[in-house]
Amino acid sequence: NTPRKINFGPGPAQLPIEVLHNVQKEFFSFDNCGSNVMELSHRSPAFSKIIDDAEKDIRELLSIPDTYAVLFLQGGATGQFSAIPMNLINLKPSQTADYLVTGYWSEKAAKEAEKYGKVNYVIPKQEKYHDVPEQTTWNLTDDASYFYYCANETIHGVEIHDVPVLPNKAQIVCDMSSNFLTRQVDVTKFAIIFASGQKNFGCSGIVLVIVRKDLIGNAMKSTPVNFDFKVQLSNNSMYNTPPTFSIYISNKMFDWSKRQGGIKALEKQSKIKSDLIYSAIDQSNRFYLSEINPSYRSRVNIPFRIAINGVPDEKLEKLFLEEALRLNMIELKGHRAVGGLRVSLYNGITIEETEKLAQLMRTFQTIHC
Ligand code: PMP
Repeated sequence: NTPRKINFGPGPAQLPIEVLHNVQKEFFSFDNCGSNVMELSHRSPAFSKIIDDAEKDIRELLSIPDTYAVLFLQGGATGQFSAIPMNLINLKPSQTADYLVTGYWSEKAAKEAEKYGKVNYVIPKQEKYHDVPEQTTWNLTDDASYFYYCANETIHGVEIHDVPVLPNKAQIVCDMSSNFLTRQVDVTKFAIIFASGQKNFGCSGIVLVIVRKDLIGNAMKSTPVNFDFKVQLSNNSMYNTPPTFSIYISNKMFDWSKRQGGIKALEKQSKIKSDLIYSAIDQSNRFYLSEINPSYRSRVNIPFRIAINGVPDEKLEKLFLEEALRLNMIELKGHRAVGGLRVSLYNGITIEETEKLAQLMRTFQTIHC
């Protein structure tokens, strides 16, 4: 019995132990049907109940109105970087989409969209993605087909805490892959919200797309059938064989999220956890450095450096990772594009686990400062 590690990685993320036990219990026979979910037909009543329950629960968690479709799709969040322009670029004759690029993931999305329409970069290319320029400086298109942003940049640790209010009233599309279900959102402010599963609601293989129904049906002719929201909506996300096991795990995670007390409780936990880490950083007298403008600090992915006299010290960072590993804490190395360290605090990470890491940060500082 290998002890479980505390996985602070950016995803695929750690799942609540209770969910894993539950899946283990049903591994050989789901709901007394004598098969694992992986072995069930996606057309079977048992699987239909799973996908219907998952949709019901996520609608309840986020108060999603009937005017929105909930689609369980494949191709990851990356697939949506193509599917979104393909489905929405024709909304306006301008065939121009506004992209707010605040980090690695929105940059990738904008580059992909360039294949399908005109992309207007709302702000100049940022040198380091430590900040978001004031909205008064944004260059918006009058008749943009849509406005795209990423609510939380997983690699750079930049989170946009408020939904932008746009003077051109463009339809807003948001990548919530890394902060989905960590805070309350007013779905009605968006044309599309999408998030991949492997961070806050399960495992990889699934991307959830919440899309306003009246915007569906405008896909470019060349849109692959699986990426056409109209086709997926009329087939209940099962135009082809869906990722049945990933949907099953999402269903378990939505149910778990409800039992935690819903989004309100998860948002509270997210705040407590990120405050623990930011306190360790802010009280470290610049031994730990967070370079993000505090107004845009992510509650979910926290990149930081360990520094001596303000200069990042890779040897100390390596030592920190070794010490963390000795205490069973893993996946704390920063992304290669940023370097340093990064803590990811998805919903499957508990407050107690975060306290252990904050404690290590303080002890490590006392020894090495
Ligand atoms: N957007 C964000 C914000 C992400 O963090 C990621 C994955 N880390 C992606 C998109 C891409 O997701 P996927 O690997 O599911 O395509």
